[in-house]
Amino acid sequence: MQYFKPGVIVALIVLSTCGYAQEYWQQEVNYVISVKLDDENHELIATAEIEYVNNSPDDLNEIYMHLWPNAYKNRKTALCRQLVENEDTELYYASAEDRGFIDSLDFTVDGQKVQWALDEDHIDICKIDLNEPLKSGARITIKTPFHVKIPTGIFSRLGHIGESYQITQWYPKPAVYDMKGWHAMPYLDQGEFYSEFGSYDVSITLPQNYVVGATGDMVEGEEEKKWLEQRIEETKEFLADPLKLLKAVSPQEVKLEHVTFPKSSTTKKTLRFKQSRVHDFAWFADKRWHVLKGEVELPHSKDVVETWVMFTNAEADLWKNGIEYMNDAIYYYSLWNGDYPYRHATAVDGALSAGGGMEYPNVTVIGTSGSAFDLETVIMHEIGHNWFYGILGSNERDHPWMDEGLNSFNENRYIETKYPNKKLIGSWATTGLGRFFDLDGYKHKEQYYYGYLLNARRNLDQPIEYKSEHYTMVNYGAMVYGKTAVVFDYLMAYLGKKTMDSAMHTYYDRWKFKHPQPGDLKEVMEEVSGKNLDWFFDDMINTTKKLDYKIIAQKSDENGNLVMIRNVGEITGPVSISAMRDGKVAADIWYDGFDGTRVFEYLPGEYDAFKIDGFHDMPEIQRKNNTIRTRGIFKKTEPLRLQFLMSLDNPDKSQVFYTPLMGWNDYDHFMFGALFHNYKFPKRKFEWYLMPMYSSSTEQLLGSVNMDLTLNPRGNVFQHINITLAGKRYSNGEQYSYISGGNSKYAMVQYNRIKPAISFKFKNPRARSKVENLLTFSHHQLSFTNKPIDKNFEGTSGSLSVTSFPSEDYYINKLRWSHYNNKTIHPYGIAIDFEQGKHFIKANLEIDFELSYKWENKGLDIQFFAGRFIFNDYPNVNSRFAYSLDGNTDYLYDYVILGRQETEGVLGAQLVSNDGGFRNFVNMGPAQTWLTSINLQTALWKGVPLAVYVDVGWTSYDPTQTIYGMGATIVVVKNLFEVYLPFYTSTGAIHSAYERNIRFMLNLTEINPFKLLNNIPH
Ligand SMILES: [Zn+2]
Repeated sequence: MQYFKPGVIVALIVLSTCGYAQEYWQQEVNYVISVKLDDENHELIATAEIEYVNNSPDDLNEIYMHLWPNAYKNRKTALCRQLVENEDTELYYASAEDRGFIDSLDFTVDGQKVQWALDEDHIDICKIDLNEPLKSGARITIKTPFHVKIPTGIFSRLGHIGESYQITQWYPKPAVYDMKGWHAMPYLDQGEFYSEFGSYDVSITLPQNYVVGATGDMVEGEEEKKWLEQRIEETKEFLADPLKLLKAVSPQEVKLEHVTFPKSSTTKKTLRFKQSRVHDFAWFADKRWHVLKGEVELPHSKDVVETWVMFTNAEADLWKNGIEYMNDAIYYYSLWNGDYPYRHATAVDGALSAGGGMEYPNVTVIGTSGSAFDLETVIMHEIGHNWFYGILGSNERDHPWMDEGLNSFNENRYIETKYPNKKLIGSWATTGLGRFFDLDGYKHKEQYYYGYLLNARRNLDQPIEYKSEHYTMVNYGAMVYGKTAVVFDYLMAYLGKKTMDSAMHTYYDRWKFKHPQPGDLKEVMEEVSGKNLDWFFDDMINTTKKLDYKIIAQKSDENGNLVMIRNVGEITGPVSISAMRDGKVAADIWYDGFDGTRVFEYLPGEYDAFKIDGFHDMPEIQRKNNTIRTRGIFKKTEPLRLQFLMSLDNPDKSQVFYTPLMGWNDYDHFMFGALFHNYKFPKRKFEWYLMPMYSSSTEQLLGSVNMDLTLNPRGNVFQHINITLAGKRYSNGEQYSYISGGNSKYAMVQYNRIKPAISFKFKNPRARSKVENLLTFSHHQLSFTNKPIDKNFEGTSGSLSVTSFPSEDYYINKLRWSHYNNKTIHPYGIAIDFEQGKHFIKANLEIDFELSYKWENKGLDIQFFAGRFIFNDYPNVNSRFAYSLDGNTDYLYDYVILGRQETEGVLGAQLVSNDGGFRNFVNMGPAQTWLTSINLQTALWKGVPLAVYVDVGWTSYDPTQTIYGMGATIVVVKNLFEVYLPFYTSTGAIHSAYERNIRFMLNLTEINPFKLLNNIPH
C-alpha cells in the first residue's frame, strides 16, 4: 500500500482500545436461595449460595455485590437523594419503622471466611476481597445468610402494604463484570438494572394461605397446584356473579380490602421455583388474590406458554380479561421479535405506588390502572420487558432506551395493530366534544410525539442515549420512552415492516441471553437493511438535533410533478413525500436524507397538494412548513381555524383561539370582552394574546395585549431568551375635578402601560438542577388620561379629597437578576433589582429561604429585604416611589388590583406584598431613603391552612425605631390568596374597629394561564 488514509489509523486505534477485537464473553451466576417470610414483623430470613463463573479473560481479586435493600435505610442513600430531587420526600421523612435494610451478612467463599466491606459512598454496594484470585475460567461459591427488613411499599419497588408483599431487588447479587469492567451501581428509582445471566433455584417458606407469583417454574408443587386450581374455580364463580363483582369494586369495599387481610394460617408451606437463562428473581405474595390461568400458542415454534393473572377485589372488573392481555402481548412480541423462551408468564395486581408497573423475568407487577385499556397497556408493556431487558439484557442504567424505548416502540405497534382506530385522547376524541376542540384527528401513537415536542420545543430535551439518572423527571419519560418509540416508528416506516421484523429477529437471535450494546443493535440494523444508519444512531439517538424538512415549491404540468424540498433541520434523515387528494394521502414515497435543497420528480397524476410526511411518521420538530397546494394564491398558508379556548398545535390549521371574558375592578365595574390568543401545546416560538374589554360603567374600551418571542440559542449559555411587548389600559380611579363654569364634575383617570422587556434564562450545567438564573431588563412607560364622566358631584366641595393619582406621566427602567434554587428541601432564592426613574435610582435586595418541615409544602418562610435610594430628588415628599412598611403601591402596574386608589373598606385591604412590606397596617410615613425588614411565616399544623407571622423592620423615616407586627394567616392558596389577621403592631392599630385592620393578598397574576403553560415542569 502506497499511502495511509489517516482515518484508517484512527479506526484501528479505536478498535483496539474498545476491545472490539475481543471475543464476546459474559460471566455466569447461579443462585440457590432459601427464604422464610415473617409476615408479623415484615422480614425475610434467608441463606444464599451463589456460584460465580469467571468466563472473562481476567483474574479477579474481588467481587462487587449489590445489597439493594439498604437503599431504604437512611437519608444518604442514592435512592433517597434521587427521590427528594424528584420531589418525593416520603423516604426522606420516613420513620425507622417504615424504612428497610439488609443485614446479618456473613460471606464465605468456597467455605472460607473472606474480608468484605460496604462501599464508602453507597451502603447498598459491598466489595468482597477474595483470599486468592479467581482465575479466568474458574468458579467459586459465595455463601451468606441474610436478613431483610421489608420497607413500607410506598417508596419504590421493594416493600409491603400490610400483608401484600412485593419482594424485588432483595438478595445479595454480584454486579456485572464485562469488557468495560465492574458495573456496581446503587439502587435507584429512576434508572433500572444490569445483571448477569444464570439460573435460580429459590425455596420460599410462608403461611399456607398466601398466593405467590414468582420468576421461574414451580417444581415439586402438586399440592400447591391443586390449591391454585381450586382458587381459579372460586375466581370464576366470583367473576360470574355480577352482584358480587359490583359490590367488590365499590369504593368502601376497596378501602376495606386494602386494610383487612385474612388471618395467616399457622401451617407453613414451602414453594420451590427454578429458572435458567434469567438475570433476576422476584416474587409477590398476597392472601387476597383471585387467580386466573390461560395459555397462548407462540407464532413461530407453536409451543404453548402458560399465563397467569393474580388480583384483588379492588380492580377485579378490569382484571377479568387479564389473560387476554397477557396472551396477546406474548403473541405479538414473539411475532415481531422472536418467540418467548420460557414456559410461563404471570402478572400480579400489586400495591406498587411508583409507576404503572414493574417487570421481572416471567413475572410482572401492575399498579392501580383505572380503566381496562390502561390495564391492558401496562400488562402488555411489562410483559414486553421479558424481551427488552429480560432476554436482551442490556445495561438499563447506561442505555435505558434499549429496554424502555424499544419496548415502547413495540407497545405503540401493539395498540396500532389491535386497536387501529384508537385516538390520542381516547374515546372522547370522536365525540362531538372531541371534534369541537379539534382533537379528533390525532392517532394514539402521537402521544409520544407530542410528549417529545413538549420539551424539544422549549430547548429542554436530552438525547436518547443518556444515563438514566441524568434525565429530568419529564425527559426520562419523554425521551427514553417517548422519543425512542417515535424515532423507531420513523425507522420502521422508512425501512418497511418486513425489514424491521427481520432486523429485530436477527438482533434477538444473536443477542438473546446476552448483554447487547447500542453498537450491536446498529450493526444488526445496518446489516439486515443494507443501509447506512449513521443519521439514525449518531444523530437521532445520540444528540438533540432536530429533524425539519420544508416544502419550497411544486410544479405540475403535462410532463408530471416536480416537488422542491429543503432540509432546514440538523439531521439528514429520510423524508417521505405524500401526494394528497381530497385531504387523504393518494401516494407516498420515501427518499433518502439529504442536505440543502433538492427537486424530486414525483409520480405523474393530478393531486390537490404535496405534503412532507402525510402519515405523521417523522419526528419533525415543525410540521407547519410541510404542505403546498397545487392551486390557489396562498399555497402554503393553512386555512384559519377560530377555536374556542385552546387545542393542540395542529399543523394543518392556522389556529386562533378565543374565550369570552368578564372582569371587574372598582372603577370599571363589570367589563365584558374576549380573549384571543395563539398559545397552544406544545409551545411555539411566537405567542400573543389580545384581550379587549368593554366597561359599561365607564363606557370605555380597555384591555391588554401581549406579544412574546422565545429564542432558543444553541450552546450552553442560554436556556432561552424572551422578548416581550406588553400593553394594558384600565381605569385607575375617580377624580373630582372642576370644569369650566365652576361646576363640580367627576373624571375617570385611566392608566396606559407599555412594557417592552427582554429576559435571559441561563442554562443549568446539570439539567436536573432546580436552579433558575434569570436576568431581565424592562421598561415601564406609564401615562394617564382623564375621561370626564357624566356624573354630577353631589356634595360640598369641602368634604372632598382629591385622590392621589399621579399628576404626570412617568417611566421606570428596571434591571433584575434573580437566582432561585427550587430544590425540594430548603429551597431559597436571591434577587437584586435596580430601578431608575426620572428623579430617582433605587436598589433592592431580597433573600428568601424556606426551612422545610416534614409536611409537603410546609415550612418556615424567611424573607430578608433591604432597599435603598441611591439617588432621589423627587419633588413630592409623599412620592409613590418611596418605601413603605405598608407595602408597595404597584407603581409598575404589574399586579391585578381591584381598587387601586382605595385606602378603606375591603378593596383598600388588598396588599401588594413586595419590597419588604408588613402584613399589618403600619402607622408610619414613607421612607425616602431606605427600608430593611425581616418577614417570617410558619405553618402550624399539618393539613390546617393556618400560619402565624412576625414582621420586623426599620426605615429611614425614623431610624431609631424598631417596628414589628405579628398575626395569623389564613392560607387559602399559598402565595396566591392569603388573609392576614393582625394580633399586634408596635406602632399601634390604625383602625379602632378590628375588622378594618385585616388585610389580604390576592395575586391574580400568578394564575395567568399562559404563565402556567410556560412553566410546565421539565
Ligand atoms: Zn417499562
